[in-house]
Amino acid sequence: MSLLQVNKLSKTYPNLGGPPVQAVSEVSLHVDEGEVLGVVGESGCGKSTLGRSLLRLIEPSSGEVIFAGKSLTRLSQTEMKAVRRDMQVIFQDPFGSLNPRHTVGYIIGEPLIVHRRGNKAERRRRVEELLGIVGLPQDAADRYPHEFSGGQRQRIAIARALALDPKLLIADEAVSALDVSIQSQIINLIADLQKRLSLAIIFISHDLSVIRHVSDRIAVMYLGRIVEVGPAEEIMQAPKHPYTQALLSAVPRPGVARTERIKLAGELPDPTDPPSGCAFHTRCPKVMDVCRLERPDLVQRQIDGHPTPGEAACHLYPA
Ligand code: SF4
Ligand code: MG
Repeated sequence: MSLLQVNKLSKTYPNLGGPPVQAVSEVSLHVDEGEVLGVVGESGCGKSTLGRSLLRLIEPSSGEVIFAGKSLTRLSQTEMKAVRRDMQVIFQDPFGSLNPRHTVGYIIGEPLIVHRRGNKAERRRRVEELLGIVGLPQDAADRYPHEFSGGQRQRIAIARALALDPKLLIADEAVSALDVSIQSQIINLIADLQKRLSLAIIFISHDLSVIRHVSDRIAVMYLGRIVEVGPAEEIMQAPKHPYTQALLSAVPRPGVARTERIKLAGELPDPTDPPSGCAFHTRCPKVMDVCRLERPDLVQRQIDGHPTPGEAACHLYPA
C-alpha cells in the first residue's frame, strides 16, 4: 500500500468576473514509503497548489487524498493537525517561514510544544540533535534567523520540519531561492536525510536538473495536469511527452548526446481559458489535428523501439 494516494484531485479558484481558474485538474498519483517523487513544471502549472492541497493548507475542490490508509478529505481541521505531524512542508523562502522574533531553538522546537512532546530539557536535547542532523552548530539554537545565510536558514526550516519525525516531506521549490552552489548542498542534505530517515519526499521544482538526482520517480505537470510520470531514469533517458522532451533539452545529461534545445513557442496559456484537447497543443512542436480535439489520457503508452511502456498523456503513442 502506498503511503500517499491521490485520486483525481482538482482545485479551482474563483476568478472575479471571469471563468474560474483550474489550477489543478484531476491529478492522481501515489508515493510509497521512503520514496522520492519529483514534481516538475513551469511556474504557474499548479505544482504548489497541488502540494498545499495534499496537506489541505488549500482546500481541494474535488478528489481524494489518502495518507497512511486514511482519507483526509473529510477530516476536521483538528484531525488534520494530527495528520500534519506526519506530513511536513518546506517552502521556497526560508526567511519568510521563520519568525524573526524567535530564536532558532524556539523555531525548531515549536512543533514539539504544539504537539506536547517532552519537557523543556528533552525538547532542548531534540533541538540540538536536529541542528546536528542538518549540519548546524548547537549554539545556533540561541541565535536569530537573520544571523544566518539563506542556505543555513533552509537548514533551520528542514530541522523544524523533521522535529516530529514525519513520514512525508513536501519540499516546494525548497532550493530555488538559493545560489547554485548552495542549492546542491541543500539537495545533498535532503537526499542524505531521505536515506537516513527513510523519508518519503515530494520534491516540487520548476527545474528538472534540481530534482533529477534525488527523485525515484518524476511527474511532469503542465497547466494543472500530470502529462507524464515514470521512473526518473526512464524520464531522463527516454522522455515520451513533447513537453518533457522540451524541459529535458535544457538539461545536460551524462551519456546522452546533447540534443538541440527545444524552444517552446509562446507562453503558458491562460489557465482561465485552457486550450481545447491537449492543453499543450498551442506550443507543441509535434501537434496533430487530433490534439486540438481530444484530450489524451494519462495512460501507459508504448514508445517505438523502447522496451518499457510509460505513462504519458500524448496522442503520439498508442495507448
Ligand atoms: Fe503534442 Fe499532440 Fe502529444 Fe499534445 S497530444 S503533446 S499536442 S503530440
Ligand atoms: Mg510554486
